[in-house]
Amino acid sequence: MKRKYVVITGGVLSGLGKGIAIASVGYLLSSLYKVIPIKCDGYLNVDPGTMNPIEHGEVFVLDDGGEVDMDFGHYERFLGITATSEMNLTMGKVFSKIREKERRGDYLGKTVQMIPHVSDFIKNYFKDMGKKYDADIVLIEIGGTIGDMENELYISAVKSLAREVGKENIVFLHLAYIPILKSVGEQKTKPTQQSISLLMQRGIQPDIIIGRCSQKLTQRTKEKIAIHAGIDPDSIITGLDVDDIYKIPLVFESQGMSQLLARKLNIKIKPKISKWKEKIINREKAEKEIIIAIAGKYTNLEDSYASIKEALNHCSSELGVRINLKFIDTSENDFDLRDVDGVIVPGGFGTRGTEGKIKAVQYCRENKIPFLGICYGLQMAVIEFARNVCKIEDANTTEVDPQCKNPVVDLMEEQKMIKEKGGTMRLGSYPAILKKDSIVYQLYKKEKIHERHRHRYEVNPRYHKIFEEKGLVLSGMSPNRLLVEFIELKDHPYFVATQAHPELKSSLMKPAPLFLGLVKAAIKKKYQNK
Ligand code: GLN
Repeated sequence: MKRKYVVITGGVLSGLGKGIAIASVGYLLSSLYKVIPIKCDGYLNVDPGTMNPIEHGEVFVLDDGGEVDMDFGHYERFLGITATSEMNLTMGKVFSKIREKERRGDYLGKTVQMIPHVSDFIKNYFKDMGKKYDADIVLIEIGGTIGDMENELYISAVKSLAREVGKENIVFLHLAYIPILKSVGEQKTKPTQQSISLLMQRGIQPDIIIGRCSQKLTQRTKEKIAIHAGIDPDSIITGLDVDDIYKIPLVFESQGMSQLLARKLNIKIKPKISKWKEKIINREKAEKEIIIAIAGKYTNLEDSYASIKEALNHCSSELGVRINLKFIDTSENDFDLRDVDGVIVPGGFGTRGTEGKIKAVQYCRENKIPFLGICYGLQMAVIEFARNVCKIEDANTTEVDPQCKNPVVDLMEEQKMIKEKGGTMRLGSYPAILKKDSIVYQLYKKEKIHERHRHRYEVNPRYHKIFEEKGLVLSGMSPNRLLVEFIELKDHPYFVATQAHPELKSSLMKPAPLFLGLVKAAIKKKYQNK
């Protein structure tokens, strides 16, 4: 089979869920084909690692240490692949490559221009990636909204890709918004029509249009859009608002998405959706219900903790329990954990909210509330233990107090020389060796495990011994035994923390073990005496 390309663009508004839409399409294709994603971002940062999560949402980390957009979480979870950082193209990356080539003299004295040089570079990147990964199908997500200046070169690139590979080997999906005006209760197609016009002005005719809407699109709506786009009304699909992103592949499939793709690309498609469906039903018919608190500082943007929410969703499906989240802002003085069944202290950076996180850990330790600490959460748990159990009252991390006399969490040796902020943390997948009789060993069911990391600071090896003497179990260490990867407490229903980010590898079919442990403990806490 010739390699196929599926391109998605967005119209009208940002935030319509292009990433989830293309990942869902990829899921339908992935039962028979090798599918890889390429996400194209228009910004000039090389990667999102240096961007504030409040502005940009969570930074997702890959096995290879790449810091990418949270859409990669959807790609990995829906396609069942391990993505790599080169699957994320940003204009920052494109321009630094073009500059390198120009300085090397690769352009042989030519004037280097946006079109064709930059757009050809992007087009060749798509083709080379397909070749390198031996992909049957390459998904290309073009970030932003059609008409945005910063994405124009990506659009030129896919236009020329289409000319090169031929109509039957590429399909263009366009996701746009269909508002319903309250006063008239009518589905309005004008914004979508205009975004289709913008696409067509750039030489691209969409093959399939997904109309994001709070209701099923009516036949009349479909016909209006179809006339405008010059396609069949059957090629218009409702991107229905749903309460659960995992329903999207099913929503698409129930409207014949895979048949549409099969027809356009002239291939066979046989989606496997029964197990997926089962998982969703399991969550929907859940009778038990628990509350898990996420005690962090970026609580005003839930996207900052997207993968943690996902990992909890996966547990919810696996264990058939409804999980209600309670976001706690630890930079506020007063917060109440009395009604919760479990607490997560997530990753974070800087000073704000740290004392509140330490208080939250203390509350969980003393009141035997199931607790999971992630990255900064582990560091906070260590500081709490040092202060309140080991009585090292001024214990802190040098991230908060650089002059601290008892830096129980300190900058890693290799980090002390680093001045650049982008891409310089301890990033990506690292192994840990788990203690045989520990809770984490029981959860992972093996001795050597791999999880993803994103941090600069570490538990200071000078204090390992005193912690162990006072009862903190260092239940997982780096193979050279210098770095603490997991800690836990005995005589507590579930007090576990890790320096890693296990939420990043969780999926619907394989929830992250540490999250399963937390949720099981929370269920037990709530229901054991009832
Ligand atoms: N700020 C801490 C560090 O750099 C923790 C980072 C995190 O939680 N991802 O080590």
